[in-house]
Amino acid sequence: MGKTRQSPYKPKVVQDKKNPNLFKVYSTTRKGVYYNANLAEKTCSCPQFVFRGGKYGRECKHLAYLEENFRVAEEKTPEKPGRSKRLQVIKYLKEKGSEELIFLMEKFGDDIINSMLAENIIIEEHGKVRLL
Ligand SMILES: [Zn+2]
Repeated sequence: MGKTRQSPYKPKVVQDKKNPNLFKVYSTTRKGVYYNANLAEKTCSCPQFVFRGGKYGRECKHLAYLEENFRVAEEKTPEKPGRSKRLQVIKYLKEKGSEELIFLMEKFGDDIINSMLAENIIIEEHGKVRLL
């Protein structure tokens, strides 16, 4: 249908050096025009977002493009081996409900558990850990 005739959207993107969540996404149709997108706050300065996205809570193509690329990049990064371990922790806690912190650290690794605690994926209360 209509979708197949679209060429893949691949804009020029410049990531902010200080804040990796900030991007300049250049227009593919208008030379020199770019939009400021914030991946963390999911905002964009383009008209598509301001008039449509902002109003209906939908993302513009710039944010969609950034999200897509960053998710892919993260998964492909070999220095993130904790990903499947994290899923195991989540699965384990879903089945068990809660578990001793020390036990989880021994089973899955201190760094995995610590980073999951830091990201509020799991919480620790009185030495027991459960999913948030
Ligand atoms: Zn946009």
